[in-house]
Parts: sequence; C-alpha cells; structure tokens
Amino acid sequence: MTALLEVEGLHKAFRGVRAVDGASLAVRAGSITGLIGPNGSGKSTTIDCISGFQSSDAGTIRFDGQDLRGLPPQAIARRGLTRTFQDVRVYDGYSLLDNLLVVDKPFQGLGWSGALFRSRAWRERRGRAEARARELIELVGLTRLIDAPAVVLSYGQKKLLAFAAAMMSEPKLVVLDEPVAGVNPTRINEVAEILRRANRGGTAFLIVEHNVDFISALCDHVIVYDRGRKLTEGPPAAVHRDHRVLEAYLGVAPAEPVS
Ligand code: ADP
Ligand code: MG
Repeated sequence: MTALLEVEGLHKAFRGVRAVDGASLAVRAGSITGLIGPNGSGKSTTIDCISGFQSSDAGTIRFDGQDLRGLPPQAIARRGLTRTFQDVRVYDGYSLLDNLLVVDKPFQGLGWSGALFRSRAWRERRGRAEARARELIELVGLTRLIDAPAVVLSYGQKKLLAFAAAMMSEPKLVVLDEPVAGVNPTRINEVAEILRRANRGGTAFLIVEHNVDFISALCDHVIVYDRGRKLTEGPPAAVHRDHRVLEAYLGVAPAEPVS
C-alpha cells in the first residue's frame, strides 16, 4: 500500500516553542483519516506546513509522488491538495456561486487576454467551473442560497461553503481543520454524510477534529498527536482503548490498580 501523503520527521518551532517536533504520518489514497490530540499538540501547525501556509524547519512532505516542501499554497493546490481553516474563511460580500468561481481563477491559466476577449477556451473553462460549482453547492445543500451573499449564512453553512470551495479544483486530498467545531449539534450528522458522499467520489480527507464521536463515525484510520508528534494510530475503536491516548488528553496517568 502506498500512501498518498507521507510526512516524515517534520519540525516547526516558533521562537523556541516546538510546535511540531519530529512528526511522521501517512494518509492513504481515498481514505478518511482523523488527526486528534490535545489542544496545542501541533495539529494545526502540521497541516499549515503540509498545505504550504507555514514553512517547516525540517522533514519531508511527499504527496502523490512529489515533494511539497517549500511550495506555496497555490502550487500545492494545483498538485491536488487543498484545505479549510479552523476559523472559517469565505468572501462575505460575494454570492455563494462567486465564492466558488473565484477559486477557479488561478487554475484557468488562460491569462488576462483570454478573459478580456472572452475567448472560446475561456468560456469553456468558465462553463465547466460553473457546472462544478453548482454541483458542489448542491452537495452541501445550499442551492436555494446560491445567489445570496455569503454574509447571510450561519457559521455552519459558511463552513460548508468553505468545504465546497476546497473541493472546486477536484483535489485528491482535502485537509479539514475542525469542520464541526462550533456547528449546531443537530447538523453534525449532515456534515458527516456530505463528507462520506464526497469521499465516495474518490477524494481523501485528513480531518483534524475534537469531536470524537464525529471522528469515530467517519474515519477508517485515526492518528493521535501529543506534544508535536504522533503518539499512536489505528482504527478508531483501537485508539479509544489505548490508555496512552487518555493520558495525553488528561495530562496524567490513570491510576494503576493496587495489588
Ligand atoms: P493544535 O492545533 O493541536 O491545537 P497548534 O499547532 O495550533 O496546536 O499549536 C501548537 C503549539 O505551537 C502551541 O503551543 C501554540 O501556542 C504554538 N503556536 C502555533 N502557532 C504559533 C505561532 N504562529 N506563533 C507562535 N506559536 C505558535
Ligand atoms: Mg488547531
């Protein structure tokens, strides 16, 4: 089995704070992989390094046979790896449709003259992008708001829009940073179902999330982080039985039975 994403010996420090301290992890093509761990254990920094939003100090990041280290986010997205952010990022003043179309711009590669003169290639590309955007808005259940400005969306709906934007370029892997944090609990199952559907289309996911029930229900593989590196990994059920995971979260060792 070859991994789609393979990270080895990743390091990233901020003024002496070792946010990521020798982390290694792999994500299988087509999988839904969870990344959990206590607050401050380096999950967000890891995915910032993977997606090019932070430079790493050392380590290797291989994706689909290519070395990603040192590449900017846009170049990484073109290679098939996109992400969402813990703090939701959408263009409030743009319609839902335009929020997705704007993502396609750097991928068009047709230059300003193509756009200016509305060349045939430009129109075809634009037509395909719009069809894809409509499909994705349908997938996340926001079709009735497609022409509304994103500002009218609830927090959870904005997260779904940001997810749709990350799917625009037909990536092989999408990294999601806390997709259901702050989302109305009655809506969390819907998010899981949307991710499952997208995954059946072939997209792999690496999901950072605190909601353990969500991760257990969705992921085939879970990586547990502690202090900047992988503590353990395995199927969700096995990870939950692992006493080291509890220790990491509680910051203490559970009491030993007295003999
Ligand atoms: P997690 O996502 O697991 O909660 P983070 O990756 O956000 O963890 O943070 C890991 C550690 O790195 C924390 O101690 C955090 O305070 C620190 N850290 C993260 N980003 C920065 C930054 N930009 N500058 C300084 N310290 C940071
Ligand atoms: Mg985080």
